[in-house]
Amino acid sequence: MNDLKLACLTTRKKTIVKAGQVFLGQGFTIIAGPCAVENEKQIMATAQAVKAAGADMLRGGAFKPRTSPYAFQGLGLKGLKLLEKARRETGLAVVSEVIDPRDVSWVSEYVDMLQIGARNMQNFALLKEAGKAGKPVLLKRGMYSTIEEWLNCAEYILKEGNPDVVLCERGIRTHEKYTRNTLDLSAVPALRELTHLPVITDPSHATGRPSLVAPMSYASLACGADGVMVEVHYNPEEALSDKEQALNPEQFAAMVRHVRFMQRQLEEKQ
Ligand code: PEP
Ligand code: MN
Repeated sequence: MNDLKLACLTTRKKTIVKAGQVFLGQGFTIIAGPCAVENEKQIMATAQAVKAAGADMLRGGAFKPRTSPYAFQGLGLKGLKLLEKARRETGLAVVSEVIDPRDVSWVSEYVDMLQIGARNMQNFALLKEAGKAGKPVLLKRGMYSTIEEWLNCAEYILKEGNPDVVLCERGIRTHEKYTRNTLDLSAVPALRELTHLPVITDPSHATGRPSLVAPMSYASLACGADGVMVEVHYNPEEALSDKEQALNPEQFAAMVRHVRFMQRQLEEKQ
């Protein structure tokens, strides 16, 4: 990892990334929301539900990098405008994915944090644009990528002058089929040894199963993650993407209660 001039731990202690009014790297940040923004009713109802449950930030894709070109691709600008409305009504900061370098600067105007997804982790043109965006970037780990490759991608963003990068472990491909991916929890403490950047996990895409999302969120807290990003839909059966992994609002609220309880216990012991 000798090439890491800016992302490595020796350059500074710990970075705290401010996205809207949220400080990632301080406490335990819970980001929640649907896989994709689908319509006004869906995003508003889900945003209200995650806010009421105690989420810190709202997620929702307006551009969806789907495996099939025939699958729902997202609402684009309309989706971003709906996220803006959800932010106005709930006060939640917003994170949304950008998949094309040409969209980075205008999408930045609608979100508090840009997301670069697993499939685009090594899209260097996109990383360079995100480095100039003037907004924090949530960089997800590619499903086939090593920690070193991932940190080098963060380095691309930092090198362009954007210091606000948050890493998100979202599961890697292994031979296991029961789970959608394998959540590499060891990446969290490993990254602590290597970088000053905040690290969160995404137990939804990592496991693909609602029943595993809460336990993996607790485990993420226990191994030192700075937060989690979880897919929640006000009515998962209706979801246009990733319906099989979304939590409903009740499941999410129960998870948040447990996470906050564990967080208090850990903080008291420190
Ligand atoms: C997402 O968070 O919406 C997403 C597409 O995840 P990933 O890039 O990790 O597959
Ligand atoms: Mn999804």
